[in-house]
Amino acid sequence: MALIVQKFGGSSVADAVCIRRVAARVLETRRRGHQVVVIVSAMGDTTDDLIALARQITAMPSDREMDMLMATGEQVSVAMLAMALHALGAEAVSLTGPQAGIFTDGMHRKAKIMGIKPQRIWKHVKAGQIVIVAGFQGQTPTNDIATLGRGGSDTTAVALAAALKADRCQIFTDVEGVYSADPRIVRNARKLDEIAYDEMLELASLGAKVLMARSVEFAKKYGVELEVLSSFSKAPGTIVKEEVKSMEDIVVRGVSADKDQAKITLGGVPDRPGVAARLFKDLAGAGLNIDMIVQNISARGMADISFTVSEDDLAKARRVIQSAARGVQARAVNVDTDIAKVSIVGVGMRGHSGVAFLMFKTLAERGINILMISTSEIKISVIVRKRLANKAMIALHKAFCLDKPGSTRTTPPNRLVRRPR
Ligand code: ASP
Ligand code: MG
Repeated sequence: MALIVQKFGGSSVADAVCIRRVAARVLETRRRGHQVVVIVSAMGDTTDDLIALARQITAMPSDREMDMLMATGEQVSVAMLAMALHALGAEAVSLTGPQAGIFTDGMHRKAKIMGIKPQRIWKHVKAGQIVIVAGFQGQTPTNDIATLGRGGSDTTAVALAAALKADRCQIFTDVEGVYSADPRIVRNARKLDEIAYDEMLELASLGAKVLMARSVEFAKKYGVELEVLSSFSKAPGTIVKEEVKSMEDIVVRGVSADKDQAKITLGGVPDRPGVAARLFKDLAGAGLNIDMIVQNISARGMADISFTVSEDDLAKARRVIQSAARGVQARAVNVDTDIAKVSIVGVGMRGHSGVAFLMFKTLAERGINILMISTSEIKISVIVRKRLANKAMIALHKAFCLDKPGSTRTTPPNRLVRRPR
């Protein structure tokens, strides 16, 4: 008998029919003799709808009240799934995040899980019940309810799998696994059999929406192997796991685009020590996540500093930066939302040279201009105009041979040179 954690995303529990399907699937696992802890997201687009509802009242709702509101979405699904399981004759109990013993910090709307006290879950599991936990939520140190950031149910699932030392953590979604690119855009994208945590981490933070980035960090930290699979089919999914040597045979594992990005540029910033520190201190103080940062030194001791934030954070970032800009006597603040970040990711980049060249050449041949570049050991990202993002992705997918059978498992493109180990 194994303990299996199963997480079902919003599209898997979108309506009563879907919820019955999920109940049957969960029960199948239970009937095979396993203990099951289920995590569910809010039904369909419920979270978006709740946010829209709040906007009808005010453009700037308090974060605490937003959490109170958004947390209801998951509470609907856990109750519905418990009822569906009861209807099938199974023993099941639904729990909110706080009832399940999930404790977070006090950062509303992007709370981090600080600890889990799983006693209550264990009690129900030992009594033979299927436990259904509301994803995306937990309890703050002041007994309030907090949410974990959009897509946070993945993190709930991984954190619970780690805390319960589950034998398996399955993330059920509406696609059959992790692909070499978004198959809705790149038609010949291929499903990956496996992917390293670090690659998944980059792809997730780059906007490939299959898993929330934080959940992958958690999985990596606690060594929780994840299986991403479809709740609508029985096809095998993608395993997200520790990197093994053979993974380096593939130069690029995936291509992604993040279109929800905005670029803020401060023009004419005095070029002296402490200026960048001052700007980014204010941004950090406001809890904003900054992505790419580029500084150009221009003439006469002035610099331009550009950085990117997610479009969700833009209004807040703009307010913070406008006051910080006055503080450092910057000349101008410009915002550009017509951008997208296109990235290639692969642990094999470490072992091959010529990767950046092939990427830039491919884009140049398609007439795609690069506005910003950033790299890490296993990723190269470029900022391009939004309308060119899909074209860039398709071209890069082809250039790195990700459309070829087997390419997701072996052979680097022959134009790249393998570095001797
Ligand atoms: N319902 C929340 C959201 O849409 C959490 C989740 O789906 O994981 O962001
Ligand atoms: Mg959702």
